[in-house]
Amino acid sequence: MPYYVYENWMAPPGGKAIIHFGDCGHCNDGEGKPPGAGEENGRWWGPYLTLADAQATAEATGRRLRRLCSFCARRLERGTR
Ligand SMILES: [Zn+2]
Repeated sequence: MPYYVYENWMAPPGGKAIIHFGDCGHCNDGEGKPPGAGEENGRWWGPYLTLADAQATAEATGRRLRRLCSFCARRLERGTR
């Protein structure tokens, strides 16, 4: 299961970079939601084979908020991925 990073430069102020698993409903393997949404607000990075690679990419964007998607984080805690 690959990882993806969604970088949003519109909101919040300073932007954000959120890490998702490829099969997250918010990710759809980097297609976003809805699929084919434009790039006015942000863009996808990836896929990455390891969480470390995705985290490095999130750091590299320099966006103020950088974290794992809350839905994906919950799955990680439950061990369902
Ligand atoms: Zn997610």
